[in-house]
Amino acid sequence: MQHFSEKMLTYELMYTIISYRNKGDKMNLTDIKGLGPSGINNLKKVNILTCNDLLSYYPFRYNVLTRSNLDTLEQDEKIIMDGVVYSIPSIYFINRRMDKMTFKLNTGNRLLTVIIFNRAFLKNRLTLNTGVTLIGKYDKKHNTIVASDIRFMLLSGEPKIEPVYHSITGFSYKKISDLCFQILEKDEVVDFVPSYFVQKYHLMDKNVALKNVHNPLNIDNLKASVNRLKYEELFIFMLKMTYLKNKKGSICGIKRDISYDSVKEFMDNLPFKLTVDQIVSVQQIYEDMVSEKAMNRLVQGDVGSGKTIVAICAMYINYLSGYQSAMMAPTEILAIQHYETVKKIFAKYDIKVEIITGKTKMSEKRKIYTALVNGDINIIIGTHALITEKIEYKNLGLVITDEQHRFGVHQRGNLKNKGITPDILYMSATPIPRTYALTVYGDMDVSNIKTMPNGRKMVQTFLKSDKEMKDVLMMMYSQLRENHQIYVVAPLIEDSEKSDFESINDLYEKMNRAFGHKYKIGILHGKLKNNEKEAIMNDFKNNDIQILVATTVIEVGVDVSNATMIVIFDAYRFGLSTLHQLRGRVGRNDLQSYCLLVSNRETKRLNVLVETNDGFKISEEDFLIRGSGDLFGIKQSGDMVFKLSDLRKDYKLLLKAKEDSELFLKENLISQEDSKFKELMKQCVNLD
Ligand code: ADP
Ligand code: MG
Repeated sequence: MQHFSEKMLTYELMYTIISYRNKGDKMNLTDIKGLGPSGINNLKKVNILTCNDLLSYYPFRYNVLTRSNLDTLEQDEKIIMDGVVYSIPSIYFINRRMDKMTFKLNTGNRLLTVIIFNRAFLKNRLTLNTGVTLIGKYDKKHNTIVASDIRFMLLSGEPKIEPVYHSITGFSYKKISDLCFQILEKDEVVDFVPSYFVQKYHLMDKNVALKNVHNPLNIDNLKASVNRLKYEELFIFMLKMTYLKNKKGSICGIKRDISYDSVKEFMDNLPFKLTVDQIVSVQQIYEDMVSEKAMNRLVQGDVGSGKTIVAICAMYINYLSGYQSAMMAPTEILAIQHYETVKKIFAKYDIKVEIITGKTKMSEKRKIYTALVNGDINIIIGTHALITEKIEYKNLGLVITDEQHRFGVHQRGNLKNKGITPDILYMSATPIPRTYALTVYGDMDVSNIKTMPNGRKMVQTFLKSDKEMKDVLMMMYSQLRENHQIYVVAPLIEDSEKSDFESINDLYEKMNRAFGHKYKIGILHGKLKNNEKEAIMNDFKNNDIQILVATTVIEVGVDVSNATMIVIFDAYRFGLSTLHQLRGRVGRNDLQSYCLLVSNRETKRLNVLVETNDGFKISEEDFLIRGSGDLFGIKQSGDMVFKLSDLRKDYKLLLKAKEDSELFLKENLISQEDSKFKELMKQCVNLD
């Protein structure tokens, strides 16, 4: 995950620059009135070290206090009401921990009873005719407010908006917003939106926006202010991404002199007809490869969408122009699978393909190394050892990596070979939402394969509850009878959680009881040694095992085309994208395949899988439901955490920020900017 840390570093540095600049000659936390050493210490605990940190400690929510209309309010509806205390509060101690206070409130035209628990300590302040605002539930039947909060200020006609912050010891919400106000009164905050865009969009002053966010006056202003700050946040982020992308794109690569006709001829001679998306992807790759820029492209598409053949076309282009290709898979099993595919496709050509795995004997390895240096091998396939081990190539022109292993700048440097920068192609079977792609993959070009090869039957998906176990077993049996194989997935293996769901061993036992007399059942989990795992996978591949009970370690991308069913237990424990990935293990030929999701919970969410097989759509849904958190198997890294923006909602703003950052860098608008921005960009440039 080098790539992420690289981005993270630069992003954090940018923030450091920003906070540094904001600190500079300006206000420090110690300069704030009403903030002593213990307050500063408490702020430190939530990572607020500078005034700027405090200003960007944004409220995560607002309470909008609008006086309720008693006539339209229903029983038990939320109520916000102001008035004056009309009767001296009486207190009743329910027990040592709990008290109940009651008084009458005069709202101007009505008298209401107020009940509030555990606020006996306020009694002395609630003298007759004191103005208060009550927030709570309206018990219409009894003309009573059951209050959850009481405030000593009256609502004016305007709705009052109160910022709500994540709590800080010793600080009320009010205090945080007061401190921010104080800073903003004295300090001029640095605005990183170029003045060109500030003018173009008539953006409000940043100080004003920050004031509105911490002390909002009305909703329209607040919205505009939040948007303005979001825009800046996204702009800075996209500027960095665009910068990185341009930088990678400007690396001089190999300018190949190959006609598209020769590529087309190759495609026409493949054992099957490529899908439109596959052809478009190959075209895009071709354009990249004949241009003088180094390719940095991602091909994303569902499992089984046919990415491998696209990669093979790239290898062919590379071969025609006289260069060597390296293809890397995340596991040995996959490397072997790719090797077999590639060899078969290139059998008619004078192309030498080799593979290096952990099992390759040293003597054999040496031979391969020599052949690579001499240029006797055209294509080498293996795991990531291909780049980490210092293998030398005669003229490495293309590196393909399967499943999201990405290179950092340094690793890329390793790939350089005698001054040549190879083209790079990534393949990912984890389609991700558009927004997310712009940020995670913002520094790459992306090709999408959205359709499955023709003739492929859609995997049929069924949702079953634990009570329908008999059904599930029957459906499994009918596949076994056809001589087909089945994956059974259990979520976790820790015994501690066993009470919660079926552990893999339980599941194994269960399968054994049901089918053990007739069929062979294997078990695969993360605690097995590599060679044990491989032995079991091989048995499954050879149909020596009919049911494979596994945790999610089922190798990504493993292709056992005779497996026509996957049964996933406690499916609610998985994200939709993960389930979709797992489902991709089956349906890998023209047999009808099935996916059974066994779950007693969250069936509504899981229904998305029953309804669609489109990985892009599913990832969008997953994203909307769960956010980017632990989606897509990509750990959320520091650089993806936006303080204000929510990629689920701010897609349009993100697009705008992207366009603007591109324009900004292209038109070299920097030169028109004041020194602060030049400095920021200079820091960017120096970073990599
Ligand atoms: P993935 O995108 O998961 O890497 P693969 O490249 O392994 O998918 O393709 C899955 C299967 O589909 C392979 O057996 C491959 O030969 C086959 N395939 C790929 N493209 C086509 C096509 N256009 N028509 C028919 N079969 C195809
Ligand atoms: Mg693949």
